[in-house]
Amino acid sequence: MSDQDSPLFHTFARAPLRVSRGEGVWLETEDGRRYMDFASGIAVNSLGHAHPHLVKALTEQAGILWHASNLFEIPGQEQLASRLVSASFADKVFFANSGAEALECAIKTARRYQFVSGHPERFRIVTFEGAFHGRTLATIAAGGQKKYLEGFGPKVEGFDQVPFGDLDALRAAVGPETAAILIEPIQGEGGIRVVPAAFLAAIRELCGEHGLLLIYDEVQTGIGRTGRFFAYESSGVAPDILASAKGLGGGFPVGACLATAEAAKGMTAGTHGTTFGGNPLAMAVGNAVLDVVLSEGFLEEVRRTALLFKQSLASLKDRFPDVVEEIRGEGLLIGLKPRLPNTQVVEALRASLLLAVPAGDNVIRFLPPLVVTADEVREAMERIEAAVAGLSDAAQESSAA
Ligand SMILES: *Cc1c(COP(=O)(O)O)cnc(C)c1O
Repeated sequence: MSDQDSPLFHTFARAPLRVSRGEGVWLETEDGRRYMDFASGIAVNSLGHAHPHLVKALTEQAGILWHASNLFEIPGQEQLASRLVSASFADKVFFANSGAEALECAIKTARRYQFVSGHPERFRIVTFEGAFHGRTLATIAAGGQKKYLEGFGPKVEGFDQVPFGDLDALRAAVGPETAAILIEPIQGEGGIRVVPAAFLAAIRELCGEHGLLLIYDEVQTGIGRTGRFFAYESSGVAPDILASAKGLGGGFPVGACLATAEAAKGMTAGTHGTTFGGNPLAMAVGNAVLDVVLSEGFLEEVRRTALLFKQSLASLKDRFPDVVEEIRGEGLLIGLKPRLPNTQVVEALRASLLLAVPAGDNVIRFLPPLVVTADEVREAMERIEAAVAGLSDAAQESSAA
């Protein structure tokens, strides 16, 4: 259907590809083409499509109980929360339905912490250029990107932005009204920009000096994506609050705000709420995702497959330096920075029947399902190489002409 005939809001510039079904790393379109899905719904389909364990959990729960209000105790919530707590820095969890909502909870939790700690004046949050935290009014203010803020009225007050990786600017931005610092350990939408461990350690120290909370946005990097359950583990620098979503539901909408007991102390009865967040259906699927991701040896296998993929891409870069400028990222969150427009490369990959996602800084993201096998990585590399070789030939022809 052409965009103008569509009954949908015209908010997405969609690729002309009508998706119909999926299995593992494969995504099929209505016209019967089979793509290797290295987009994974932007890091959402962590276990690929139609994973048997998730299908079973969802369909079984569907016949038992879908929804009950948070006015009641929901055993699946306590179960999923206690598993997230034992696998992380956190003591407490609030469930939501999306990444932006998990961030909203994180922002509110940080402000409330300062409020109940005798610092009602501390409500400002420092964020970083290139960040992406969601599309609600508060999270577009946190992300600070002009293209997302324009035309939506006054920017929500209380967010100060500093350049990526600039410690002096960060120090200068912290003032008497600062409550917290919010950062993605690896910027996803911003172009797979990895924050060095030493920078996270410096932020942690700054938070200690000034009584600030450290908030990680791990909506894209969490739940095994980098080969660790959460990306911060590889830095050894834990936050006070963390937002999770995307891969947590494996395709079912689930978000979570994790916090230490101290950081969450202001979030008392009535301060925050949600109708759908943490309902039994969502919790059944979230628990099923963790059954797999936290199973013995799973993340180790992710790291092994990721290494093969990254080394293969590095070799591709060596052989096609005219097309590939840089490979970066951690685990199965990999960025390829081409020398041509990233959208052109994404289209060439699609023509080779492989799906990838453009990101900021002219980067292409590869986000295969965490269950991708070594054989599937090799097959993907053939498709990626075919696309890159084609672009290289075309570039040489045009420069010879
Ligand atoms: C996707 C994303 C969000 C927003 O999540 P939604 O579920 O779309 O609201 C926030 N932060 C990061 C880092 C993301 O990648």
